[in-house]
Amino acid sequence: MTRSISIFGATGSIGQSTIDLIKRDQKSYNVVALTGGRNIEQLAKDAIDLNADVAVTSEENLLGALLAALAGSGVEVSAGRNAILEAADRPVDWSMSAIFGAAGLEPGLRALRHGTTLALANKESLVTAGDLLLGEAKKCGAKILPVDSEHSAIFQALIGEDIATVERIIITASGGAFRDWPLHRIATATPEQAATHPNWDMGQRITIDSASMFNKALEVIETKEFFGVHPSQIEVLVHPQSLVHALVGFNDGALMAHVGPPDMRHAIGFALHWPDRRKLPVDRLDLAAIGQLDFKAPEDSRYPALKLAQFVMERGGLAGSVFNAAKEKALDAFIERKIGFLDMTSLVEDVLNQLVSKDGLNKDAMTLDTVANADQMARKYGQELIAQGRYGSN
Ligand code: NAD
Ligand code: MG
Repeated sequence: MTRSISIFGATGSIGQSTIDLIKRDQKSYNVVALTGGRNIEQLAKDAIDLNADVAVTSEENLLGALLAALAGSGVEVSAGRNAILEAADRPVDWSMSAIFGAAGLEPGLRALRHGTTLALANKESLVTAGDLLLGEAKKCGAKILPVDSEHSAIFQALIGEDIATVERIIITASGGAFRDWPLHRIATATPEQAATHPNWDMGQRITIDSASMFNKALEVIETKEFFGVHPSQIEVLVHPQSLVHALVGFNDGALMAHVGPPDMRHAIGFALHWPDRRKLPVDRLDLAAIGQLDFKAPEDSRYPALKLAQFVMERGGLAGSVFNAAKEKALDAFIERKIGFLDMTSLVEDVLNQLVSKDGLNKDAMTLDTVANADQMARKYGQELIAQGRYGSN
């Protein structure tokens, strides 16, 4: 039986790994929609190879280029944000939410309305609007499967278990590019240095977010939202080998660890075949050759972003949207060399303090509009702070 699928963010790192798995067993899938951004060549190639119904670029000015690249192929073509949402309205059995950032929220929400399965790589959806996303899934009878490696690991460790018996959840972090750098050097790190990951081969932005631990901060919030545990039950452990992805601690003292190669095709493949397990083209670990697994507590001074996650979880509501948007703004500014590496955390903290004060934005109920408004206000205020020259630069 073939399954109909769509991939949002098909040209990115997660999208390409998903396509790699699909191409290995193409007859089992009927590809409905593929969406991408500026990489028209890749999008067109995959749309032809997979015989997709429709290919969509988020960039309206690239419609002509996509039309030209797909001329005569029989693949429908469209462009722009609304076109992505329309693509998400096309019913499918399984969709992959792998757009980067807050832009992934709405396509994911639309895809949930089919009442089928949404594989969720876009952690920002849960961070910015967990209640909306989970509420929509419940209402529509859809299943959300986590694709972030740590959350897939937790999900797998919880199979057959009662969440009420969980005492704690530990997610691991590689420690990123600057794990072993002396602290004084980190302030002067460049985007190129931050975008080099010791273990995982990922997109540029998430790799920089790994070095700053903003990625882990998002993942801590994602854990709270997805599994419904209390923030005090979530721990982060630096684990340089990136082989143990997460551990779940139960009330009898048992720790169930998920161990696997650092290859996103495992978590993607698990979500693709769930509830079955199927053979996947990932390396098998030779633990004797690996020899040892190391763990240590993250130092606050090296990874200040982690404490911001605690603040965001305490505040709840729209704090997640402010946090994520401020983080995206800070990341852009760092990549554009307008602020330094450590300034990213200062900027996000300043935006949170301004917008998520005692009442602040958090008195508003969570809707798509208030989430988007919180996002815009955070970016705007972040921009103002950068323009004031408050932070150093490289
Ligand atoms: P990426 O930057 O490599 O790819 C992002 C994709 O989204 C591209 O197809 C791009 O065209 C599209 N896109 C970007 N901005 C868009 C917008 N405004 N509108 C529409 N489309 C847009 O990102 P990635 O590393 O594949 O990450 C995707 C998501 O998966 C993120 O939420 C990330 O946190 C999560 N994730 C990634 C990894 C990884 O290994 N890369 C691991 C875990 C979770
Ligand atoms: Mg992860």
